[in-house]
Amino acid sequence: MAIRCFAAKSKKEALVPYEYEPQPLGPWDIEVKITHCGICHSDISLIDNEWGISRYPLVPGHEIVGTVVSLGSNVQELKVGQRVGIGWQRSSCMHCEWCIQGEENLCLLQEATCVGHQGGFAESIRADSRFAFAIPDELDSAHVAPLFCGGATVYSPLVHHGITPMSRIGIIGVGGLGHLALQFAKGFGCEITAFSSSREKEEESKQLGAHHFISSVDKDSLQKAANSFDFLLCTVPTPLNWEEYLNCLRPKGTLCFVGAQTKPIEVPFFSIINGRKQVCASNIASRPDMNTLLRFAVLHGVQAQVELFPMREVNQAIEKVRSGAIRYRAVLYNES
Ligand SMILES: [Zn+2]
Ligand SMILES: [Zn+2]
Repeated sequence: MAIRCFAAKSKKEALVPYEYEPQPLGPWDIEVKITHCGICHSDISLIDNEWGISRYPLVPGHEIVGTVVSLGSNVQELKVGQRVGIGWQRSSCMHCEWCIQGEENLCLLQEATCVGHQGGFAESIRADSRFAFAIPDELDSAHVAPLFCGGATVYSPLVHHGITPMSRIGIIGVGGLGHLALQFAKGFGCEITAFSSSREKEEESKQLGAHHFISSVDKDSLQKAANSFDFLLCTVPTPLNWEEYLNCLRPKGTLCFVGAQTKPIEVPFFSIINGRKQVCASNIASRPDMNTLLRFAVLHGVQAQVELFPMREVNQAIEKVRSGAIRYRAVLYNES
């Protein structure tokens, strides 16, 4: 039976109601009746074909939560009626050196949920069960949906860069990714500084976990923070003066990018050689990390702050995300 959804017919267009016939259910596949789907900035980048990888008609949506309604013949880990979440990654080869180490998000043959496949702005989806994650009962569907991409994006680098309770970390940007990064960092028990250009976010960032706040438009404050951080996580997509931030790192410190930068990152050589500093980036999370993320969210009360929209208002929701007015993630829900 055809799946009803919303699709962009071509670049930068508003979404319109659309239907497609799903592929037959493969042995590892499940069909999921979607209850909620977050809107990620990457969905908008795909609608606009900003990265040159989009294929139309394009059904966005890769922060999917729903209930399993049918199972392929090989699926044993999941059951009909179980609540699951699906993120950016749809599949990987399952046998390369990265896949067998449990780092499927590094697989060269990975596929994305809504690139060349139909995503979650839909009533249901067929997906590989090995990239669908059982959701603990403690986590609410609307508030957990953004963890499947936004949450994964900020949690994974904290794990892989060995953040400890003694780490001094800074989160650059208090928005869709940053508000989640602050909560995860709080769970790691480290000393946290929020950087934002909006002074009015100081109080909120402290409620989310920050011990300190630095106005990123105040040059004096940035200079005073020189040699203060082991790790800086940049969650904003806009170019900043990276030299100033690298100067805030202690020797051996790391500046890690997770917000998709739209311009090349300019790094002056002497801002990294002195102190043997690192500049790197991180994308999504592996399957093992997704499972620990969900346990972490239960243990430490991490949840996205969301604004809910019925699926039929998808275009209004997208416009609000585009305008930067969402606090902090938009989540669509199906009404029946
Ligand atoms: Zn692989
Ligand atoms: Zn995303």
